[in-house]
Amino acid sequence: MANRDYYDILGLTRQASQDQIKSSYRKLAIKYHPDKNRGDVNAEDRFKEATEAYEVLSDTQKRSRYDQFGKAGVNASGSSSYGTKAYSDFSDIFGDVGDVFSDFFGGGFGGGQRTRSRGADLRYNLDISLEDSALGKEVKVQIPREETCDACKGKGSAPNSGSTDCSTCNGIGQVRRTQGFFSVTTTCPSCDGKGQVIRNPCNKCSGNGIVERSRNLNIKIPPGMDTGSRLKITGEGESSRSGLAGDLYVVVNILNHHLFERQGNDLIMQVDVPLRFGLLGGEVEVPTIDGSRVKMKIPVGTESGRIFRIKSKGLPSIEGRKKGDQHVLVNLKIPQSMTKRATQLAKELDEELLNNGASGREYAKIEVNALRQ
Ligand SMILES: [Zn+2]
Ligand SMILES: [Zn+2]
Repeated sequence: MANRDYYDILGLTRQASQDQIKSSYRKLAIKYHPDKNRGDVNAEDRFKEATEAYEVLSDTQKRSRYDQFGKAGVNASGSSSYGTKAYSDFSDIFGDVGDVFSDFFGGGFGGGQRTRSRGADLRYNLDISLEDSALGKEVKVQIPREETCDACKGKGSAPNSGSTDCSTCNGIGQVRRTQGFFSVTTTCPSCDGKGQVIRNPCNKCSGNGIVERSRNLNIKIPPGMDTGSRLKITGEGESSRSGLAGDLYVVVNILNHHLFERQGNDLIMQVDVPLRFGLLGGEVEVPTIDGSRVKMKIPVGTESGRIFRIKSKGLPSIEGRKKGDQHVLVNLKIPQSMTKRATQLAKELDEELLNNGASGREYAKIEVNALRQ
């Protein structure tokens, strides 16, 4: 990974314009951003790699040095350059698309200082049953998230001990390094660019100012949610040192149901009925998603595969418009074993239908067609 060509990383040719570089980087950054791919090391690598490539290619001077001398010309070490500068450029890159990204990436993107100091947004994937999506439900979820350490109020230092100037960078936050002909300024690795180091780190958070904690939340799932529906819970994302928390997004996935198939707000199911229902008519009780049962008449002459509609027994819509319907596909069951007498009676029935009246002629026609096939 360390040696891939910057243009290859961004999927561009050497002639790419600044706009193309920006747009290609934006796509990769959205796809591989660590906030969206928590714990995915590969995605993190791709993100760093793209960021490194962007940092060089978006800077005309660095780009021409890279074109001439390769990575040696821009002193890329792979990790030292990742971070500060690219982050400060995000507002520039994402600025024109506004809220979409500040919504998703709170910590780090979007409109300058205000959103930059927010904690990260979190995504929680929630599986719910079809019944719960029909009726709504309150679910308890446990969200592991980072919170400001209460022992040090996020400062990271133990009580009564402040911080001191970083000795690596003398408090500047950046270090100059010389390699070959060039000298490059990078973020100080000892203090992460803050210029200050903590004298005695806080015991509870080891000086990070942030601790991981599980939070129990009750989340109300309104009726009518579909797979992919998103609930925004303001302020339940991660907190930052500034104390401004990001938001939590609950993304719903509806599990498959053993009886019902969902199509929009309509439900589709199949019901088996005895053969005689087709010949004599009958009545079945069908289950519905709200747990009740509905009586459904099967009229004489019903063929297998016919679909009946039960109005308003489908799913509610999230906008509160009218409910969907339940569609019931009828399947006539043919007996799989017959007694002698049953076979005899079936023959008699066949005779009777063939030799009698208008329906008999229809019946004979079917039989002729069947023979020809
Ligand atoms: Zn602490
Ligand atoms: Zn430093």
